[in-house]
Amino acid sequence: MKAWGKSMVLVIFCGIFLLAEGALAGEFGEVTCTTPDCGYKTSLDIGGRRKLPAVTGYCAKEKKFVRLKLKSHDDYRKPHYCPNDKEPLKPIYRGADISKIPCPKCGNLTLKYQLMLRKD
Ligand SMILES: [Zn+2]
Ligand SMILES: [Zn+2]
Repeated sequence: MKAWGKSMVLVIFCGIFLLAEGALAGEFGEVTCTTPDCGYKTSLDIGGRRKLPAVTGYCAKEKKFVRLKLKSHDDYRKPHYCPNDKEPLKPIYRGADISKIPCPKCGNLTLKYQLMLRKD
């Protein structure tokens, strides 16, 4: 009974670990602006992969999305800065975060994100 309990703990631990890892896996989608006549459209890589940690953010100064490679997944939720101008990046952890980013072209909060592919 004792050994069974131990292996259960191990299974649960592995399960939590896998779930946490899954949350860190990135995705790939398309950002479009819904303002009529704007026409802004870009493809966007969000986050990294299990073995290639990365974070995606938006640089308000350059009005562009920036993807940073990270040394470790532990750095994912830390503040990040644009490598070009040291501007604090607005992090994009999920596609839904796109709605808080002003459109680089027209400046309206009308960006829409559509998931194309979930990475492993
Ligand atoms: Zn920048
Ligand atoms: Zn726009």
